[in-house]
Amino acid sequence: MKTMIEEGKERIIMEWKPKEKHLCELEGPYECEDCGGHVMLDATYLDQVEKFAYCPYCTMKGVVKEEKTRDIEMYIGYQNKTWETRFVSIPLSIPEDKIEKTATTIAMSLFYNSPDTFDEVAFIGVYHIPEIEEAI
Ligand SMILES: [Zn+2]
Repeated sequence: MKTMIEEGKERIIMEWKPKEKHLCELEGPYECEDCGGHVMLDATYLDQVEKFAYCPYCTMKGVVKEEKTRDIEMYIGYQNKTWETRFVSIPLSIPEDKIEKTATTIAMSLFYNSPDTFDEVAFIGVYHIPEIEEAI
C-alpha cells in the first residue's frame, strides 16, 4: 500500500493484482453510458452487495439493470445415442425469430464437448420455447 498526492488530496493507492479467470465469477461486459468504457463485474458483488458500481475510467455511477430472461428447453444428443433436455436462459428482449439461434448458440458454448457432459455431444436443438407468460 502506497500513498500519493492527487488533486491536492492524499490518496491511498491499492495495487490491482491479476487473478486467474477460472477463480472469478464475472458478469458483463457492461458499457458505461457516459464514456463507453467496458467493465466486467463480480457476480457475487452484484448478488450480495449492490446493483451498481462506479466506472473505473470516468468514475460515473453505473446501475446494472436486471434483465428478465426466459428458460428455453434444449435437447442434447450424445454420441452414445442417449439424449436429455437442459435449460438455457436467454434475455426476454430477444425477438421471437432469433430465439432458436440464440438459445442454440448458448447451449453450444455450455454443453458442446463440455467437461461436465459425460459423453461427447452429437447434436443440440430447441426442444421447447415457453410462452412469455409461462416464462415470467
Ligand atoms: Zn465511464
